[in-house]
Amino acid sequence: MGPWISAFLAAALVAQVPPSGSAAEGRLRRDVAFLASPELKGRGNGYPELDRAAAHILREWKALGLKAEIQRFPFIAKVAREEQGALLTHGEEERPLVWGRDVEAVGFSGDADFRRKPLVFLGHGVRVPGGYDDFAGMEVKDRVVVIARTLPDTDGFAHLPRGERSLLARVKRLETERAAAVLVLEDGPARPLQREEGPVKLDIPVLSLSVGALGDACGDLQARLKAIRDTGKPASQDFIYAPWTTLTLKLKLHREEAQVPNVVALIPGRDPQLRKEYIVLGAHLDHLGLGERHSLGGAEARGQVHPGADDNASGAALVVELGRELKEARPRRSILLMHFGGEEEGLLGSSHWIQHPTHPLESVKFMLNFDMVGRLDPAAPKLLMGGLGAPKSALEAAKKLAPADFSISADVGAAVGGSDHMSFSQAKIPTFFFFTGIHGEYHRPTDTADRINFAGLAKLAAYGRTLALDLADAETVPAFDPETAKIVMRGNGGPMRVAFGTLPDYADNPKGFRINGVTRGSTAEAMGLQAGDIIIRFGGRAVKNIYDFMDALGAHKPGDKAVVQWLRGDQTMQAEATLKGRS
Ligand SMILES: [Zn+2]
Repeated sequence: MGPWISAFLAAALVAQVPPSGSAAEGRLRRDVAFLASPELKGRGNGYPELDRAAAHILREWKALGLKAEIQRFPFIAKVAREEQGALLTHGEEERPLVWGRDVEAVGFSGDADFRRKPLVFLGHGVRVPGGYDDFAGMEVKDRVVVIARTLPDTDGFAHLPRGERSLLARVKRLETERAAAVLVLEDGPARPLQREEGPVKLDIPVLSLSVGALGDACGDLQARLKAIRDTGKPASQDFIYAPWTTLTLKLKLHREEAQVPNVVALIPGRDPQLRKEYIVLGAHLDHLGLGERHSLGGAEARGQVHPGADDNASGAALVVELGRELKEARPRRSILLMHFGGEEEGLLGSSHWIQHPTHPLESVKFMLNFDMVGRLDPAAPKLLMGGLGAPKSALEAAKKLAPADFSISADVGAAVGGSDHMSFSQAKIPTFFFFTGIHGEYHRPTDTADRINFAGLAKLAAYGRTLALDLADAETVPAFDPETAKIVMRGNGGPMRVAFGTLPDYADNPKGFRINGVTRGSTAEAMGLQAGDIIIRFGGRAVKNIYDFMDALGAHKPGDKAVVQWLRGDQTMQAEATLKGRS
């Protein structure tokens, strides 16, 4: 192929940028306006409005003559108490526990109906392999087990494997050990009953217990917890011995289960062989509804519509636009166009599809995920791309296909945001992830359609079209790379114990860790940090990028003092912070 031909083809391959005000931009504007409209009520999971959004997408596919379907998965939308009774016996004394004050059911709790089961205190209910063990020497079977929710921020617990830290993981272990019930000792009042992350309902009854509810029925549990923190040794205690402490419990929960939609459409490939292989283009359709959960807008945002124009009406509209354009392009491989529900609740829709694929999973060769692509900065247009499970070379090649008028900051691995592509990379499918960055309206009622950069969105759609066609028409598709699929935990692998409150600018910055803003009421805000500042030192450590910042932050605990140095324009500024714990 002569150089001019390759130059011509190369020119043809690089994304052609649609003129501003293009037809594509108009269609994108129309779809975002509808999906982020007040009447769609923030497309909450379990809301009928999310079904309306799915029906809108399905109509678009039908109008294009594409084969399309709605796949539904179960989602616990609401959970409420139907029957309840809790009686604590201590020696001769009997005392009812008050629901909503002393105790409350936890959203994934099972039902209960038992009498006088003895209590045992089991610290935090953890067992560190070859190390700390709250279970050592304790009888758990058929006991009511009291564990504290909050893990101590001491080194002894820092090495507890990530998957075993969550309350759910600890309760599941007690269920396996056939405990009769779990009482979760809170640091304060009992937590209100609400649906918990994920589609989970356990068999074991689980109650949230306010800090003082037991009185002295189990002695001084706070002293035991302090002993654990101070000594790093377990302080479990069985209350089957005198004074006998037991619980009689009756609990029946009612769950409203909704069937949440995923929408899947197919553009069949034109190549007799390659059409058996699929390239997935995906975006989540759900958002936060009225902000019952995951809202960052504070108490006043609860009950307000969270329109989610950028998160993720922008990505949802972009995938519809790709469907329109790729149908015309007649790719060699087949294209699956997917709109997921349940992303905000833990990637539920995409992980459901991976477990119940509508098309042969082993034939899915690559996945492109668009989540929050509506806020390309017109002044400094930069797209963030992740390549979880994709070979580095594929990401480099993709960058070369980008139009000249926006730059790309690419990072293999999981650095750039968690979203539905993670369900695919965990199924060993290489992915690209597209994201225009975090902003002050993220997960707030202010994420509205009037803030969307539609000319930018149209440019990204053109780029997405180029990449999708490149993959669909190539002789071979880049293979899955397990190295880049690793979800890297930074620092000591333990959880982040302090909250600082910066909104990261995920784009690489040669000088340090640049921020896009600060969260209200945070330490960063109190120190006077602002959008555009570049953090260069934290707590005596040099900060060259977001990883260094996470490491430096991860090395601190609540109450620690840390000197922070940052650049603002050509000024170097510094202040000392007293770090606060995560709430
Ligand atoms: Zn999102």
